[in-house]
Amino acid sequence: MPRIVMKFGGTSMAGIERIRHVADRVRREVANGNQVAVVVSAMAGETDRLVQLCKEAAPLYDPREYDVVVASGEQVTAGLLAMTLQGMKLNARSYMGWQLPIRASGHASALIDGIDVAVLDRVFDDNGIAVIPGFQGVTSDGALATLGRGGSDTSAVALAIAAKADRCDIYTDVDGVYTTDPRIVPRAKKLDVVTYEEMLELASVGAKVLQTRSVGLAMRFGMPLQVLSSFEDLPGTMIVADEGSLMERNIITGIAHDRNEAFITLIGLPDRPGTVAAIFRALADANINVDMIVQSAPRAGLKSEVTFTVPKASLAHSVDALARVRETGGFEEILTNTDIVKVSVVGVGMRSNAGIAARMFDTLAERQINIVAISTSEIKVSVLISEDYTELAVRVLHTAFGLDAPAAIAGAAA
Ligand code: ADP
Ligand code: ASP
Ligand code: MG
Repeated sequence: MPRIVMKFGGTSMAGIERIRHVADRVRREVANGNQVAVVVSAMAGETDRLVQLCKEAAPLYDPREYDVVVASGEQVTAGLLAMTLQGMKLNARSYMGWQLPIRASGHASALIDGIDVAVLDRVFDDNGIAVIPGFQGVTSDGALATLGRGGSDTSAVALAIAAKADRCDIYTDVDGVYTTDPRIVPRAKKLDVVTYEEMLELASVGAKVLQTRSVGLAMRFGMPLQVLSSFEDLPGTMIVADEGSLMERNIITGIAHDRNEAFITLIGLPDRPGTVAAIFRALADANINVDMIVQSAPRAGLKSEVTFTVPKASLAHSVDALARVRETGGFEEILTNTDIVKVSVVGVGMRSNAGIAARMFDTLAERQINIVAISTSEIKVSVLISEDYTELAVRVLHTAFGLDAPAAIAGAAA
């Protein structure tokens, strides 16, 4: 029997009516002769609400307690879906992360160490449906752990790999992966296929339709991954390994933006070896992921500056960690800015085409959009700009790189 893992996101689980609809989808896959495990997200907005409560209780909250709070949203939806399926006379039961268990280390963005599948195998053998809360695992000392925002995608892929499923279907509130966020550019085009590599890069620069780690995992284990709508019966987007299977390629596959970064500038760095090492060591020790880094070369003997980005959610922790470096003379002043967005263009076609960065910078310059920082990889160019220009920048770049859908089709898609 084919075995599939179905994952439903927050919008799909928002309210009993929608949960009934999800249950119906699950029922259909079971009726089609599949063994099914379901991974669910918390109801839309619930995790945001819980995170906000943590911040109000303690701005520098303890990540272990944060996990206790934020993991609760998925527990609710897993129970509700299991009882809804039971109401349809299906043999369904929920299994919390600790019941399988999904073993994880760390807190707030814990890594999955492994998943024991004995319980799941028994459920499959009994023709049962396991409903599993996404986003959560359990640490070796029995504490709840969560996998970082959007982590239910990673739970689903990890479970599919552990259970040797034939595929992992990610049901969400759009009907696939688009050339850019269709909520920002109505003329974005749906992609039938995307390579793991491009999806990984798109996700890592902000296309939140899939959590980056879920794509990395699927790629590493060759797990077939599909993104599709939980509301409409439409073909979705397949994430594939081989770009050779894509006949006609645009140089640029997609454009993404990320509003979740904050900008930190440190002023008055002494010009001596070890200055930046001390700064980034302090951030690493506090478990903070630093993204773009810009350091202006100091003129001999003068003090310099360094600018970098961290996730907005880590800003308070970053400032706290850096305050200690400042006390020991590591720099003089700290400035922070949350009014920024990172906009990126991604495509494997970049490897064989020069001038992508130049075209991107020209397009933004024509609109008087100022670039604060730049970073590149083999298949990506990212710029940091003022958040006010997010929509404009994404839209003009989408047009400049020839990604707009023809108007008539765009009208139908919207
Ligand atoms: P879920 O709750 O189902 O996990 P998410 O909100 O995490 O859903 O992800 C789906 C959202 O991702 C869409 O509503 C869309 O606004 C956004 N998105 C961003 N970039 C893209 C893209 N390139 N293609 C499709 N959706 C995208
Ligand atoms: N509920 C979690 C979040 O909002 C996990 C997820 O939905 O993937 O980040
Ligand atoms: Mg998501």
